[in-house]
Amino acid sequence: MRHIAIVGSGPAGYYTAEAAVKKWGEEARIDVIDRLPVPYGLIRTGVAPDHQSIKAVSRRYEKTATGETVRFVGNVDIGTDISIAELGSLYDAVILATGAPKDRTLAIEGADTANVFGSAAFVGWYNGHPDFAALAPDLSGSHAVVIGMGNVALDVARILAKTEEEFAGSDIVAHALDALRDSRIEHITILGRRGPHQIMMTPKELGELLHLERAAPEVDAADLPPEGDDAILEPGLRKSVTLVREFAALPETARSEKPITITFDFFASPRAIVSDDGRISAIEVERTKVELGRAVGTGETYRMPADLLVSCIGYQTSAIEGVPFDQRAGRFANDGGRILPGLYCVGWAKRGPSGTIGTNRPDGYAVIDLVDEDIGPGARKRGREAFDELIAERGLDVVTFRDWRKIEEAEIAAAREGAPREKFVDIESMIAARGA
Ligand code: NAP
Repeated sequence: MRHIAIVGSGPAGYYTAEAAVKKWGEEARIDVIDRLPVPYGLIRTGVAPDHQSIKAVSRRYEKTATGETVRFVGNVDIGTDISIAELGSLYDAVILATGAPKDRTLAIEGADTANVFGSAAFVGWYNGHPDFAALAPDLSGSHAVVIGMGNVALDVARILAKTEEEFAGSDIVAHALDALRDSRIEHITILGRRGPHQIMMTPKELGELLHLERAAPEVDAADLPPEGDDAILEPGLRKSVTLVREFAALPETARSEKPITITFDFFASPRAIVSDDGRISAIEVERTKVELGRAVGTGETYRMPADLLVSCIGYQTSAIEGVPFDQRAGRFANDGGRILPGLYCVGWAKRGPSGTIGTNRPDGYAVIDLVDEDIGPGARKRGREAFDELIAERGLDVVTFRDWRKIEEAEIAAAREGAPREKFVDIESMIAARGA
């Protein structure tokens, strides 16, 4: 018998559990541990609430979670409640699937000014993550600035631009829907420090900007490279750039009919945040040019009004005591998934925050191959039995998958009309909802 602990119940965690079941069947017991009382990590609190078809992948994880061999152990914080060393002494392999929940730091003057947020916080707010539900961004100003040219920047811009009706069928949480209903934002500027050929945005997500009820995109045609240069791009990026060209070609009437404009400001690197009474009022930006793929400042600066700023410049993994960490890369130090004997990582915790949800599937299968190679038939560790003893000793209040089902039922029952659920946004309500 092999005893496996997977820390983190997001896509990387559940694809790894699925791979373990495929590999060992009845010859393994797998515990998927999460610090929250609810499973699915990024699927629940990262994927945009208006992208329900992506969120539907949780049905697949549910199949894995409800088998005999895999169990969900929620509300246990590894590194705080139980150490990595303790976990390692109980299981043949500990696999960290903890993702990258922290923002990459926006290292500019004034980054700690009020109404300036990182995307982890802002996305967590509209998705009801208990850590960020109380964020209360002020949406009463007219100018929002979003830093970064990735899909998260697009998510944030789109969410800020949508009407209440456009959230029908989404699971955006009530506090965010209420705030957005009263939003006065009219200008959303997406700042990219490089040019159209260096965007990280994918075509489907970019294309959504052409179908917003009250917003339209704007691109300055002068920022576009000659069309012939697109031929060297890989096909996905070429499609994205074609859409950016389409935005640039939109007639002015396409925008004048809509009250919100989403402007792409390329070759624009944030330099400092300007505040008025402690609250952001503008951002200072330096024009750049791209040399050998890198953004180089030109010395020309300008000031752009900003009442709200969301920095979407990527994420990093949270360090855990006793686990070697690669500070520069912002993830665990690992060799193809191996960290130390018996300790592994997978998904964003292994490779950094890139790729789609599906990228985590082969990652999960690959790490289980490594574990299989390393642990053979297992070393007679005590696994979940000993883990449960430790849990009882520490007086920890574990949430099981059956409990989660009750929490989920209560969320479904509380949904506004047409919505799939109304999420609980604090840990106490989640725990209370599982009942006796
Ligand atoms: P990302 O794709 O890596 O984009 C980060 C952006 O931030 C880049 O444009 C980068 O510019 C910029 N940036 C980094 N540091 C900066 C700085 N100091 N100043 C200014 N700009 C800076 O990251 P992401 O948007 O957080 O997305 C993470 C992953 O999740 C990606 O794989 C993404 O595709 C995925 N995702 C997918 C979806 C979807 O499929 N619907 C939705 C959301 C997220 P440079 O290129 O110049 O560094």
